[in-house]
Amino acid sequence: MARPAARRNRHLVAVSAAAVATVALFATTTGCVAMATEDPGSSAGPSSSGKNGKGRGDGEAGRSPGAASPGAATPPARVSAEITHDSEDQGKTVNLTIDDGPEPGWTVKVLDLLGKYDAKATFCIIGSRAREYPDLVKKVAAAGHRLCDHSADHNTAMDKRPESYQEQQVLDARKAIEKAAGPGARVLYYRAPGGAFTPYSREVAASHGMRPLGWNVDTHDWQNPGTDRIVETVKKGMKEGPTVLFHDGGGNRSQTVAALERLLPWFKEQGYKFSYPKI
Ligand SMILES: [Zn+2]
Repeated sequence: MARPAARRNRHLVAVSAAAVATVALFATTTGCVAMATEDPGSSAGPSSSGKNGKGRGDGEAGRSPGAASPGAATPPARVSAEITHDSEDQGKTVNLTIDDGPEPGWTVKVLDLLGKYDAKATFCIIGSRAREYPDLVKKVAAAGHRLCDHSADHNTAMDKRPESYQEQQVLDARKAIEKAAGPGARVLYYRAPGGAFTPYSREVAASHGMRPLGWNVDTHDWQNPGTDRIVETVKKGMKEGPTVLFHDGGGNRSQTVAALERLLPWFKEQGYKFSYPKI
C-alpha cells in the first residue's frame, strides 16, 4: 500500500510539471489491459494520497458554478483542467463514482440500490458501451445521477498515444453518452481509463466543460477481492477523501452490489451526505 501511494505522489508532481514526464511516469503504472483492469489504483486514482491536489482545494480556477445540476441546460464552456477529488457540498460527504458501465444486469442493480437509499452517484461511462446500451444510460440520467466521460474505448494506454487519438477518445465518448442519455443531458466530468490522464487530455476535457475527475478511495472491486474487503476498504479509506471508486462494468460485479448494499446504509448511519464531485 505504501509503495503505490508514493508512486501516486510522484505522478502528482509529474502531472503538474510536464507532459513528457507525465507520459513516462504513467507508463510505469498503467500496465493494465483493456476493460476489466480498470483504474487499478494507478495514476489518476489520486486516491489516498490525493495526487494532483491532495484532496481539498486544488485548482478551482475556471470553475463555473452554473454547471451544478445533472440536467443543466447550459453546460459550462470551460472548467478547470486540474483533477478534482472534492465534493461540491460542504461537511461530511461521499462522492460515489461508478465506472466502466453501463452493463446489463449490474447497472440496474446498482441503480436500484442507489434509489433505495436515496443516494446519488456519478457514472463514468465508456462511449462504446453507451452506444451499445443507450437505454441503460437513459436510466442513469433519468434517476438524476451525473454523467462522466470514461473515454470511447477504455484504452488504459491512451496516455501514450498521439494527441489526435486522445482527443478522439475524449470527445467521441462525450458525444455517445449525451446522445444515449437524451436531450438536456450533459457530461460534466472526464475520468481517464486506468487513470491515464495527460495534460493534453485534461485540457481537451476541460475546454469542453468536463472536469477531470480523480478518486480518493479505490475499492479494487474490479478484482473481486470479496465483499468484506471492499466494505472495509471504504470504511477505512474515507479519511483520505470523499471520492470513492466502484465499478458496474468489466465483469461480474456481484461483490460490488453486495458491498453497496452494506455501505449505503452505513454512510447514512455515519452521517455522510451523498454528494457530487466538485466542478
Ligand atoms: Zn475504467
